[in-house]
Parts: sequence; structure tokens; C-alpha cells
Amino acid sequence: LIDMVKRSGLRGRGGAGFPAGVKWGYMPKGPGIQKFVAVNTDEGEPGTFKDREIVERDPHQVIEGVIIAAYAVGASRAYVYIRGEFFLGVKRWIKAIADAYEYGFLGRNILGSGFDLDMSVHRGAGAYICGEETAMLESLEGKRGNPRLKPPYPAQVGLFSLPTLVHNIETLACIPHILQRGPEWFAGIGTAESKGPKIFSVSGHVNRPGNYELPLGVTLREIIYEHAGGIRGGRELKAVIPGGASTPMLTASQIDVPMAYETLKAAGSELGTGAILVLDETTCMVETARRLTKFFAHESCGRCTPCRIGSQRLYETLNRIESGQGTMDDIDRAVELARGIDGITFCPMGAMLVNPARSAIQYFR
Ligand code: SF4
Repeated sequence: LIDMVKRSGLRGRGGAGFPAGVKWGYMPKGPGIQKFVAVNTDEGEPGTFKDREIVERDPHQVIEGVIIAAYAVGASRAYVYIRGEFFLGVKRWIKAIADAYEYGFLGRNILGSGFDLDMSVHRGAGAYICGEETAMLESLEGKRGNPRLKPPYPAQVGLFSLPTLVHNIETLACIPHILQRGPEWFAGIGTAESKGPKIFSVSGHVNRPGNYELPLGVTLREIIYEHAGGIRGGRELKAVIPGGASTPMLTASQIDVPMAYETLKAAGSELGTGAILVLDETTCMVETARRLTKFFAHESCGRCTPCRIGSQRLYETLNRIESGQGTMDDIDRAVELARGIDGITFCPMGAMLVNPARSAIQYFR
């Protein structure tokens, strides 16, 4: 099973894009070791709404993916962590898990296989940082959701200090299809380094916002103009944030970029969660950067100074400009603040939170 997932080329769909099969291979082998699977449904990246739709419409394929993953790595317990605001999602999770128990897909000696797996749902309280895998584990343990230092990675020291396989639910939903149709089928979709289909959440100034499941490597142009119906009111496109609010924005001249990990990186952005925020010509880039920075400043867990204080100072700087109180120096000040936050924080949020302001200044100074 681990080899099949490796051959499929599946990469984590939660944002980081780490190869799923490699992660499975990191789990310690052999009996006698208590292991867990932790299922991340804490989708909180602004603009991202794919996991919510998966859990509300078809949690069963995720449960199937969890069972297969748990069997492959030898885990006997699976914990679902879900964002507190997803009221319907929680209900759907609970019902689907109860159904799976009733049909004998969960519990003791599943379908006479000798394999045991228990699964339960746990609600978060709505903190953005709890979508980061180690903060999620802290929260699952009942503590404040602060990220942990890595390494050690959760595959070695995870939930309750035991080996834990952490996956986003879109990743897990791919597993039954890889097994059913074969890893070569999955690897035949997409680009050289980005295999399989991906759900793109499209929002903003398009005629048909929504979730679109398309092969990785589809261009931004095709997603915006063919699937999402083009820009509302026939206006011109100004910018696109291609992978969730924390990824650097692209300009209208860059939308022929294929939506894949390697191509977006080369274009100066990231695939992230695949959430596409479309901004038309009426959009104020100062206000866009200000609002997104406000969100991240609010969601900083507060553990390290550059993120906790720096995000607040960055927000205040953008706020001054937006309210007409700014000076020309404030633009350079924002760039300097971003430089002082990026790369020196405890978790990746520091590097992520500067992206809206920094890319807005880069392209729309
Ligand atoms: Fe917390 Fe921000 Fe530091 Fe991450 S970077 S640990 S969110 S303060």
C-alpha cells in the first residue's frame, strides 16, 4: 500500500505538498507500537472552502482513505480534528463515522480482517494556526494550539508523543481512488511533479465562484475564464492570489501559469491549498493587503516576537496608508518589516503572513 501511494505521486493537499507515500514510509514499522492517524479538517486559510465541501457532501471516501492509511502504517486509532465553525461538517462526520461502525468498516476485526480501528471527531475553537499540523496535535491533546518545533516530525513524535500520520482530508479522499484505479492512473494525470486531480476553490470577482476539481497543471486562465465564467461585469483582471490568502499574488499577465507546485514556485508564488482569489480592476491593492494582514495579525498564536509584533506593525503601516495618513517612507517600512519577519519565526506562518503586503508592493508599488 505504501509503495502504491508512493508510485501515485500523491502530494499533500493541505498546503505543504509533501509526498504522501514518503510520509507513510516515515512511520515506524512493526507491531507493539501504538500509532495514530490525525485527520486535518481545520480548513482556515481565507479563500479555501474545499475541505468543508468534501466533509459536508461525501465524508465516506475520506473515512475509506483513513482506514486504508491506518492499515498501511499500523495505526489503531484515528482522530478527526475539525474547525469549530463547521457545524454541518461536524454533524456529517459524526453520522458518517457512526454509519461506518454500523456497517463493520470501523471497530474490532474489520470485515473479519483482524484489523482494528477506532475513529472519533474533535472540534477546534476556530484558531487559524490549529490547521498547522503540530498546533493541531497540541489542540487535540487539550492544550493551547501552539506549533511545535520540527524535527521531530509527527511521524516520529506526534499525538501524545506517539507516531502519528497527519493528513488533510482532500489527500485522504484520493487514497480509495488510487487503490481502485491504480497508481499509474493517478500519476497519469497532472504534470511531472504534480500528480492527480486537485480541487480549486475559486472566489472573488468571477461569475461562477465555487469548487472545481481539475487536473493539476491546468492554467489559471482556463480556471478563471472557462470554468469560473470569467470576470464579473466583463471587467479586466487585475491580480490573482493562486493558493490561498497567504500565497504571493500574481498579476493578470501571469495567468497562463499551470497550476502545479513547480510552475507556481517558478512564477514566484505557491500552489498552497489551491484556493484562487480573483481580483478585478476595481480592487484596491492597499486595502487587499491591509485586510489580509489584519487577519494574520489577529491569528498569530503569539509565541514568537517577529510574528506577534511584526504582523501588528505591518498592519498598522498598511492601515496608515489606506486611511490617507501614510508617507512614502511607509512603503519601504512595510518591505523592511516583511524582511524582518520572514524566515526567522518559529513556524511557517511568519513567512506566509508577509506575502499579501510584500507581493502587493512588488507588483503595484
Ligand atoms: Fe505563532 Fe506566528 Fe510564531 Fe507561528 S510564527 S509560532 S503563528 S507567533
